[in-house]
Amino acid sequence: MMDEIISEDIEKVKSTVKAKAFAGKKVLVTGGAGFIGSWLCDVLLGFGADVVALDDLSTGRSKNIDHLTKKASFKFVKSDVCAFQSNEKFDFIFHMAGHASPDEYQTHPIETLQTSALGSFGMAELARKNDATLLFASTSEVYGDAEIIPTPESYWGKVNPIGPRSCYDEGKRFAEALLMAYSKQHGLNMRIPRIFNTYGPRLREDGLYGRAMSRFILQALANQPITVYGDGKQTRSFCYITDTITGLMLLTASPKAKCEVVNVGNTQEVTILELAEKVKEATKCKSTIEFNLLPKDDPKRRCPDTAKLEKLVGWKPTMSLKEGLKRTVTWFSQKT
Ligand code: UDP
Repeated sequence: MMDEIISEDIEKVKSTVKAKAFAGKKVLVTGGAGFIGSWLCDVLLGFGADVVALDDLSTGRSKNIDHLTKKASFKFVKSDVCAFQSNEKFDFIFHMAGHASPDEYQTHPIETLQTSALGSFGMAELARKNDATLLFASTSEVYGDAEIIPTPESYWGKVNPIGPRSCYDEGKRFAEALLMAYSKQHGLNMRIPRIFNTYGPRLREDGLYGRAMSRFILQALANQPITVYGDGKQTRSFCYITDTITGLMLLTASPKAKCEVVNVGNTQEVTILELAEKVKEATKCKSTIEFNLLPKDDPKRRCPDTAKLEKLVGWKPTMSLKEGLKRTVTWFSQKT
């Protein structure tokens, strides 16, 4: 059974994106058991697509897709994206596999680089052979510690190539360069969304996989101290999952987005301390705020310029942080 909050959200996505682009199409979702990947599987199946979800379950979770496994139009393949080979004919590939949590990817830097580099090679080849449309999940991290806020796609970034975050940042930058080369040399039909911080139901909260948003919610629901790193003045812009998913689907379906690199995110910039306060308010918890050491190379500000997304597909994120937080807290409180 799918959760009520997720079912409602999926209906909202379906009313914004035209189903006909995906109906009856064969779609591969790498990282299909992950946070964003599993939402894509739900929406694509709702549109009548035939979905193959690929995941090695290193950071994805089978519980995100358990409700789909009995559907005839859904297939789960447990495999590392770097090792995956297939003779199936795919119309679309959503290449979402990756290690997104800073604590987790810094613990597995080599695997993180391999997934972005070798995994993307494999997916570019598969898309080329199939003449498929490929969407590659890039990231705001390609901008590193950005000097221009809100950050437009034309900004080249300020990335430490040998720092603790480089395995993620440079891996994604390599994959972007690779897909640009494939589009130039082979005419690959691809899109590169740079996805900014996304949150909502299914965002992993445990151990190394936890992100600020999910950890804060879990800590607040348990009335434990909320662990803010540094003075909490660093900023992020949090986009609710349905807005990110809608952006990704619209970009994939739109011929105008062919070979474009586009920011997908929310433009409401908040400090991490403000986020902690908002989580306290939404959960009505008694947690205190505990200040811990700021990790090395933690970006000071992050906020997307989303004018290009709006211009290309006529859409921008709509869910306020207050409402998105309310939905996410409700979902987590039903799970814990
Ligand atoms: N952060 C924090 N407490 C935590 C986890 C993260 O204060 O328990 C901070 C982190 O240092 C960063 C921001 O929150 O400045 C967002 O962290 P997230 O885990 O979402 O990943 P990032 O946006 O850095 O990739």
